Amino acid sequence: MSRVYNFSAGPAVLPEEVLKEAAEEMLDYRGCGMSVMEMSHRSKVYDTIIKEAEADLRELMKIPDNYKVLFLQGGASQQFAMIPMNLMKNRVADYIVTGQWAKKAYQEAQIYGKANKIASSEDQTFSYIPDCSDLPISEDADYVYICENNTIYGTKFKTLPHTKGKPLVADVSSCFLSEPVDVTRYGLLYGGVQKNIGPAGVVIVIIREDLITEDTLPGTPTMLKYKIHADAESLYNTPPAYGIYICGKVFKWLKKMGGLEVMKARNEEKAKILYDFLDESKLFKGTVRKEDRSLMNVPFITGNDELDAKFVKEAKAAGLENLKGHRSVGGMRASIYNAMPKAGVEALVAFMKKFEEENL
Ligand SMILES: *Cc1c(COP(=O)(O)O)cnc(C)c1O
Repeated sequence: MSRVYNFSAGPAVLPEEVLKEAAEEMLDYRGCGMSVMEMSHRSKVYDTIIKEAEADLRELMKIPDNYKVLFLQGGASQQFAMIPMNLMKNRVADYIVTGQWAKKAYQEAQIYGKANKIASSEDQTFSYIPDCSDLPISEDADYVYICENNTIYGTKFKTLPHTKGKPLVADVSSCFLSEPVDVTRYGLLYGGVQKNIGPAGVVIVIIREDLITEDTLPGTPTMLKYKIHADAESLYNTPPAYGIYICGKVFKWLKKMGGLEVMKARNEEKAKILYDFLDESKLFKGTVRKEDRSLMNVPFITGNDELDAKFVKEAKAAGLENLKGHRSVGGMRASIYNAMPKAGVEALVAFMKKFEEENL
């Protein structure tokens, strides 16, 4: 067996320890005589798995008691509709468009009401985060929406927008658990877990209780009501049971590593290795305004499409995989999530230095 350094933006690298433990438990979960994949989600054993996962997540993120944690399906993209269906009481919401994912959420919201684009960075290919200190927040806005870390473009909100009292809704898919957050700053935050937490198929929603109501838009399917899932503690129907079990293992791994302060320090150290090299390189350059750089997704280019393609190909041969940039932007992108070891980033930079010497 040999593992590569996997720089995929998602589904992405998971901690090796977690994968090994899951493999050991595959045929017989702790004396049950069956895999977690095969057991009833109503069983005592599974109940312990999902309850522990929630408790560990609450501990890691210091989630206050007046927030619910929901383990749902449909990926992050389903939330683009579920959020307006549940929260757009006045049918008005303000969107800050800082990339493809924010744009998709903004477009989806237009189906349900008046979605206002109150800021955007599209004028410069989403390479920065706009100033959000004094935005024209709509008086009757039900919420203000952001995508906190822009997976494709490699930007991150370093300060949250001033929402003038409106609930902040944030897609944190690609920065989930990468550093401590103050949950009380949000009305709702959510993320697909396949970026930094677990297998695709689970989306975690953390929502303030007062935003969970019966009063959803007409026609909202039962399965898309937060209240249904909150009341049933994520067991209204069969949840993505195996995926939640792996997420739970990742939460335990994060606790063992020392929690989110420690992950933040590790992530800063890893990102610095790559950004420092990009800043001094004569061949490669980063594409994002420095103060808005993401710790998780690092896009870079040589400025020559052919050379970019050559780099991606040769990197793959050297065991550094999935470095091709998103199909909409080209170039390269290294996603360096929690589970990417520092040695992986060092190997990437060593390879880039070698490539630069050979191709400059
Ligand atoms: C990947 C991603 C999505 C889409 O996730 P799906 O689970 O495929 O729907 C949405 N938002 C962000 C920030 C992402 O990185």
